[in-house]
Amino acid sequence: MTLRHRLLLAQAPLAAALVLVGAASLRTVTFLGESGENILKDNYRSVLAAQRMNGALDLLDRDALARALGRAPAAPDALARQRFEAELKVQEGNITEPGEAEATSGLRAAWEKYQQALAAAGTAREPVAAYLDSVHRASMEVRGATDEVLAINQDAMVRKSNLARRASDRLLYLMVAATLAALGLGLVSSTILTARMVRPLSALSQAVRRFGEGDLEARALPKGKDEIAELGREFDTMADRLEEYRKSSLGDLLQAQQASQTAIDSLPDPVLVVDTEGVVLNLNQAAEALLRLPPGDGVGKPLHSLDPALRERLEAVRAHVLEGKGAVIPRGFEEAVRVEVPDGPRRLLPRATALYSAEGTVTGVTIVLQDVTRLMRFDELKNDLVATVAHEFRTPLTSLHMATHLLAEEAAGPLTEQQADLINAARRDCERLQGIVDDVLDLSRIQAGRIELHAKPVDARWLLAQAAAGVETSARASGLALAVEAPDDALPVLADPERADVVLTNLLGNAVRYTPSGGKIVARAKGAGPSVRFEVSDTGPGIPRQYQERIFERFFRVPGGKRGGVGLGLYISREIVRAHGGEMGVESEEGKGSTFWFTLPAASDAPKA
Ligand code: ADP
Repeated sequence: MTLRHRLLLAQAPLAAALVLVGAASLRTVTFLGESGENILKDNYRSVLAAQRMNGALDLLDRDALARALGRAPAAPDALARQRFEAELKVQEGNITEPGEAEATSGLRAAWEKYQQALAAAGTAREPVAAYLDSVHRASMEVRGATDEVLAINQDAMVRKSNLARRASDRLLYLMVAATLAALGLGLVSSTILTARMVRPLSALSQAVRRFGEGDLEARALPKGKDEIAELGREFDTMADRLEEYRKSSLGDLLQAQQASQTAIDSLPDPVLVVDTEGVVLNLNQAAEALLRLPPGDGVGKPLHSLDPALRERLEAVRAHVLEGKGAVIPRGFEEAVRVEVPDGPRRLLPRATALYSAEGTVTGVTIVLQDVTRLMRFDELKNDLVATVAHEFRTPLTSLHMATHLLAEEAAGPLTEQQADLINAARRDCERLQGIVDDVLDLSRIQAGRIELHAKPVDARWLLAQAAAGVETSARASGLALAVEAPDDALPVLADPERADVVLTNLLGNAVRYTPSGGKIVARAKGAGPSVRFEVSDTGPGIPRQYQERIFERFFRVPGGKRGGVGLGLYISREIVRAHGGEMGVESEEGKGSTFWFTLPAASDAPKA
């Protein structure tokens, strides 16, 4: 049965009660109407007739008396007689009560007698006596008869109205009783039906509530075929699907999480994931071992609980990423942080990347601590080896250079042209080798943090002139114009003249090396506030944008570029400038030459000669 049918059925008892009460009321009203009508028809007309007959009789009596007394009657008798006759006929045609027929025929007889008495009195010699003896007596008889008819009908009216009232009272009681009974019955059956109807609804709502509270096994399990049962079945199907989905997605999620945890655990380097507040969200086994934490103990703890040196560095890289400065990618071993662990110190190189939410906001930072302890050890060994080899090369190279120089200058006797060419080539290579050895030695000094500076006020113009003089010969040999631009007045800088010369010579040497024949090289110096800015410009090939920062890295050379040194010159130069407290950079456009610049602090004192 559908819900609509049930609802209709629940209303049915009340409707039936209403119909019943309506019928009873109709019956009562009809009965009362009929009773009233009957009284009017049966009795009231007779009462009226009797009264009217009495009226007519009064007129006849008065006229008879007037005639007896010899006076003229007020009106002719015929009219009153007609009226009486008409009313008597009405009465004769309206016999409804027991005894009424006899009373009416008595009246007819009395009326006949009265008329005879009237006729006799009209011809009597003693009219007054005749009136008193016969007419008046006959009149009294007629009155008695009309009164009897009147009384019978009045009694009948009273009786009938009493009967009607009693019947209506009975009907009223019956109606009230029927109303109450129907109402009670209707209410009880409606309540029972409604409760039965609503029961599956509350079972359904209970199931929905339990499901909403997380009980995934809650089901409505409806019976029947109505709309609520249909809804319950739909809910159960939905709940089945959700439970299935939840189980499968939970399983997938757990599997994915396990896979990613296994993946980061298998990494040999410590990995930490922290949120924006610095609380550790996840870490791998290597991180737990490094921080000496029992498995699973680090999660949910802030970074504050870590080793102070490490914590400081981790906070710095976290802040770097959170400030939107991008990922932290280490540039060299010098960025490694030293951490003491039971089996000796370890060097960890932090690199960090941002963790994004689905909306694209940064929710945390993934930090990988690359263990570079062994690599740094190898690096140190390599540096030591290179430094030692370079150092050992230096003395024999100096002798070789000296020897080739003396030979080229024909100190050991004249040379043929071919011999001179060979000796000059050997001398150039010797010089190149010496330059490389010097660079390597400088590099090892820098890496050991041992750049010794003997800074003093020097005139920048003198530094420029010195360096320019050093490359003048090779510039001319390469077909290049070399110019120096400097102010007329002394431009004192606070610098180690030897180191500053290394820098300028490096830049000028590069300009000579990389600028094709016919080009121009300009070296200049100018005051720039608290510092002096040096520039070396050339009309060479320029440096592609993507390499402009990288050329200052160790051993970096622009791919496909002209063969030169080993890629150390700019690195060493920048380190020397930085040791002076200055900066170094390049402005260049491919195909349009380069301008290398650096700054040195301006000296307040005038340089000593
Ligand atoms: P190198 O000893 O190889 O010259 P540097 O560190 O001095 O090493 O320079 C690094 C690289 O920068 C060079 O290999 C070269 O490719 C590029 N470079 C340096 N100076 C210039 C310049 N003036 N013009 C074009 N390229 C240059």
